[in-house]
Amino acid sequence: MIRSWLAKHVFYPAQDGLRGLGSLRRWRELEQSQWWSPDQLRAFQDTKLRQLIRHATSQTPFYRERFERAFIRPADVRSIDDLSDLPLLLKDDIRDGHEDMIADSHRGELMSSCTSGSTGSPLIFSVGRRRCGADLAARIRAHRWFDVCTGDPVIYLWGSRIETDRQDRLRAIRDWLINEKLLRAFELSDEQLHCYADKFLYIKPHALYSYSSTLWRFAQFVHEHRPELKGVIRRVAFATGEQLLPQWREEIIRYLECSVAEEYGCREGGLIAHECPEEAYHITAENIIVEILDDDGKVLPSDEEGRVVVTNLDAYAMPFIRYDTGDRAALRAGACACGRPLPMMWRPTGRSFEFLETNDGTQVTGVSLSRDLKEIEGLTHYRVIQEARDRVRILAVTNSHYRRAEGERQMRCFVKARIGDATQVIIECVDDLPPHASGKYRYIINAIAESATPQ
Ligand SMILES: [Zn+2]
Repeated sequence: MIRSWLAKHVFYPAQDGLRGLGSLRRWRELEQSQWWSPDQLRAFQDTKLRQLIRHATSQTPFYRERFERAFIRPADVRSIDDLSDLPLLLKDDIRDGHEDMIADSHRGELMSSCTSGSTGSPLIFSVGRRRCGADLAARIRAHRWFDVCTGDPVIYLWGSRIETDRQDRLRAIRDWLINEKLLRAFELSDEQLHCYADKFLYIKPHALYSYSSTLWRFAQFVHEHRPELKGVIRRVAFATGEQLLPQWREEIIRYLECSVAEEYGCREGGLIAHECPEEAYHITAENIIVEILDDDGKVLPSDEEGRVVVTNLDAYAMPFIRYDTGDRAALRAGACACGRPLPMMWRPTGRSFEFLETNDGTQVTGVSLSRDLKEIEGLTHYRVIQEARDRVRILAVTNSHYRRAEGERQMRCFVKARIGDATQVIIECVDDLPPHASGKYRYIINAIAESATPQ
């Protein structure tokens, strides 16, 4: 109790101040603005957008040239409606123009970062204090929706190289002071998980924060080996980084006996939406503008799924204006039962590499195939890799209930039904599926899309 009080009232504010993030001040503002009317929110976004455009064109050669080439004056962008005149920012633009995208005024405060996929070259981008503070504030607000405050004990089961490589003694001390604990999610062996389980029992966290697949794997481990951990997470498990499959959610709730909420964002573009207790995905509209576009770049109405394009209103060190995330989702109309008028989106259906492709290039969401595969008895884990339009490899981990001939017949049948009869399905039984370098256990990989658009 005393520790939580000190963490909340002394150490959290102190480290926030020392790092110059201002996340607590921003969070207090967000607590107010989540109740604003749509008009009020829209006016706020328009003002922030105009400031961002002025900043980006005056401080970065990249946007200056971009606007000149498109014959647009910064003053022409007055509201969100004018955004569609601006070109999209693609991953290749960032690769080619990274240095020119950094604002001269913010060079002194850069925290370099990168996102990497299992194939292709990593995408290097930079984040400054303002965006970092804004993201943290959005996360604090979303955690408050589940009654988790700064200073409450929280465990991060996390495997990102960016965070873990920087993890040093100072960081560990800071985490201890603010009542957070980082457990590395690389190579989660049973032995490692047993050791982590003891830490959960000792810390009794109010929240756990992890990749969706890691969270699911942890829930399964608890179910199979350490059932005494049921209910040890007092309030909520936050899933992020990749799509949370419906059956994963169901099992996490059942095995861990806590709520589950998704955080949706991308490392380069910023935090985009958080799930509230009513299971609606509220966009952090004060920090980010979300457009949903069709393949021709036209803005789509609510409920129609398209490409997720974001403009981060707080990314001043390296502005992201109309960034094509590679994700697909739809906006959601209507009101949420939680009463917050914040705009909503439907659960994102996945990143481009979580889709499979049919012979004519039609995308099929990975979720649909994973629903099918769940029906196969004895298939405990799998990874589906689409290597070519007409070739899919399935790595399968099975248990004693698995009947090989029947299992393989079903897998072939499901894949062919989703992406075409002519598909060659190669099935390999493996003992275990190691996570990718990032720590995520990816279950559907579109290797065609990844080699075309390295993430
Ligand atoms: Zn809500």
